[in-house]
Amino acid sequence: MMPPETELWNRVEQTAREVFGTYGFGEIRPPIIESTELFARAVGGETDIVSKEMYGFPKKLEILRRATTDLVGQVDTPAKIHVFGQALAVLVLNLGQALEGAVIPTTQTNRHLVEQLKEISGRTIARWRAGQWEPSQQWTNDFETARALIDELEIERLEESSSLRPEATASVCRAYIEHNMQQLPAPVKLYYTGPMFRRERPQKGRYRQFYQIGAEVLGGSDAPGIDAEVIEMVMVYFAKLELPGVQLEINSIGCRDCRPKYVELLRAELQKVKDRLGTDSQRRIETNPLRVLDSKLEHEQAIIETLPRIGEHLCADCAKHYAEVKRQLGMRGVAYKETWRLVRGLDYYMRTTFEITARGLGSQNAVCGGGRYDGLIELLGGPPTKGIGFAIGEDRVILSLLEAGKGNAAEGRDVYIAWMGEKAQATAIAAARTLREAGFRVAMPPVEQKFGKALGQADKLGARYALILGEDEVASGEWTLKTLADGSQKKIAKAELVKFLREAKRDSSLRSE
Ligand code: AMP
Repeated sequence: MMPPETELWNRVEQTAREVFGTYGFGEIRPPIIESTELFARAVGGETDIVSKEMYGFPKKLEILRRATTDLVGQVDTPAKIHVFGQALAVLVLNLGQALEGAVIPTTQTNRHLVEQLKEISGRTIARWRAGQWEPSQQWTNDFETARALIDELEIERLEESSSLRPEATASVCRAYIEHNMQQLPAPVKLYYTGPMFRRERPQKGRYRQFYQIGAEVLGGSDAPGIDAEVIEMVMVYFAKLELPGVQLEINSIGCRDCRPKYVELLRAELQKVKDRLGTDSQRRIETNPLRVLDSKLEHEQAIIETLPRIGEHLCADCAKHYAEVKRQLGMRGVAYKETWRLVRGLDYYMRTTFEITARGLGSQNAVCGGGRYDGLIELLGGPPTKGIGFAIGEDRVILSLLEAGKGNAAEGRDVYIAWMGEKAQATAIAAARTLREAGFRVAMPPVEQKFGKALGQADKLGARYALILGEDEVASGEWTLKTLADGSQKKIAKAELVKFLREAKRDSSLRSE
């Protein structure tokens, strides 16, 4: 990311701050690294995100440590010596980094042990280089010593390994519990922006480091008006950004009472058509039948259409809640489409779920996903707490805006100050300061430049005006202002400049509206 695109990123984030602020949300900045356990519990150990896609650090160390020590008794051939030596080298490298980053305790003992391991690893490499591959007492001794040293490492903290966050809802909920936010006036409304990390196969709109803008409403009631207001807020935000082709889909996935019964029914129906499903769906019949509804496989679509729909199996309370969410969306003028297959395959999600898509994104066209998760805080060890939230994929919002030609947020310079002569330089410096303080974007050459060259530079930078300061201008206090678009030029009194530029800017922004 770099200019001019970063300007668009800033606008997208700034607009979120403004809109979310008007709905009473305050910003939370959760850490980027959290305990792996938190995500395993909140997102679910069975999910792709946790089981396959997380970037965890010390876990790797733990695996390396085990791999290395497990190999020790088996180094009886040159090939195995090679494998062990490599494993040891990688372990030593990672231990060094872990010590540096304080991922493992930076005790004297650990430093000493890592140093000794480095020595052994160094000897191993040196012996390879000398062609000494045959098993020998020397190899055995070194490997046994290495294992003993590894066992002595003080890395108990590794058990609670940490990971780069794949999403932020878990962190926000942890913070809610840790900082006793249930004592604050309910509901607590928080938003965040920042990078998330998932080891996915990269493609257009899907990255390993991507950015989300999200919000959570925690505590208080689960009134449908809250769900509707949160959805309204995202839609207002997208409208303000002029995001093209925005479509909202909603669904209700029931609660702890009615959903399990539906899931059982779904499972039973899926069993009947099992043979016609792909292997992923077949597996999900057991692990998480709701996820089968997410399937994009062509040949499964017709089968899925015949399955029972959760909307017809909601309990009375959930049905009432859902009907009221829809009524309230209507009251707010929010257009939506009901999609019965829109499920969130995690246990703690309940009732309202929603997804928003936009144009220009190909197959990865979801720009926002959200839902109610009344069980989550409790699952993480807090008090029973209502909750609803969403996460917007910022990269995709940007892509869609760029695709629709709405990305020209990058403005050039307002004024380029061309100066010649020592006195003019002093005047130029003062003028630049005054204009910048008034909020204009100003550029000026740091060394003297012929006016012709300076004007060429002003053009290249896309400046609207060139302020020309030569000896005459400085002496008279009547400056020359050139409009670069049409080449017209006028004299303007020094004291009038800011006022003139302000009015010109206001006129042009009125015209562009
Ligand atoms: P999720 O947290 O999976 O519900 O995703 C919420 C939103 O984040 C999605 O609708 C996408 O817009 C965005 N998103 C999720 N994963 C990625 C990714 N790997 N790259 C870019 N955007 C993503």
